[in-house]
Amino acid sequence: MSMLSVRDVSYIYQSKYQSIEAVRHVSCVFESGKLYAVTGPSGSGKSTLLSLLAGLDLPTSGEILVEGKSMASLDRDQYRREIASVVYQSFNLFPLLTALENVIYPMELLGKKKPEAVEIAMQLIGEVGLGEKTYQQFPIMMSGGEQQRVAIARALAAGGKILLADEPTGNLDSANEKNVVELLRTLAHKQGYLVIVITHNPYVAEQADAVYRMRDGELQTDGRA
Ligand code: ADP
Ligand code: ADP
Repeated sequence: MSMLSVRDVSYIYQSKYQSIEAVRHVSCVFESGKLYAVTGPSGSGKSTLLSLLAGLDLPTSGEILVEGKSMASLDRDQYRREIASVVYQSFNLFPLLTALENVIYPMELLGKKKPEAVEIAMQLIGEVGLGEKTYQQFPIMMSGGEQQRVAIARALAAGGKILLADEPTGNLDSANEKNVVELLRTLAHKQGYLVIVITHNPYVAEQADAVYRMRDGELQTDGRA
């Protein structure tokens, strides 16, 4: 069973004066253990699709299934806290918390005991390729690549199996971009996460197992899906 199945999904932004069909009759599947890229021009509906996959909005029509269960029937707060996490181009770390505290934070929200949360956070920081000296650093002291790794560690901290990333390498130089993409590949291939990345970057798309291309709200595959 697919981790996520998108079935004839459309999404319409409705305002008083106009409606914009940002996603049009999209159908596709996303499997665990794979890295997917979603590409396409600005305004083609990528971010809207990602927000539907993240459970931030429900489709106007059609449905998204999470391991066979309709997203509409799930507790979406729980889905967002415990199953699917999003990382962004601008990292969005808490500036007044250290790297370790940033990663601990989602576990505290879930009521995990502090010593256990600290242990898991240290392990995750190691898994994203950062050393012990990172623990006590504040975001402002870290490079962009390091901040994105901490953001990824924080996204994984709640124990979910879906990682969604909106232009995760958009603010990184090419060396850091390569490293972060390699990390995303490893998380998919070695640890079984479903990783979905929105990207304009041909290099990132090339590293994905499958590429979905959006155009005017519609989705096309490149044959590698
Ligand atoms: P992309 O991520 O590919 O740039 P978006 O999903 O952000 O595309 O946008 C798709 C379409 O939906 C665009 O026409 C955009 O202007 C429109 N749109 C996005 N967000 C909103 C919103 N909050 N309200 C109204 N229209 C929106
Ligand atoms: P991206 O390409 O990264 O999606 P956009 O520039 O399309 O960024 O959108 C930036 C923000 O503005 C998003 O939160 C989007 O929802 C919102 N937005 C985009 N288009 C519109 C619109 N026509 N009306 C209202 N909000 C919009």
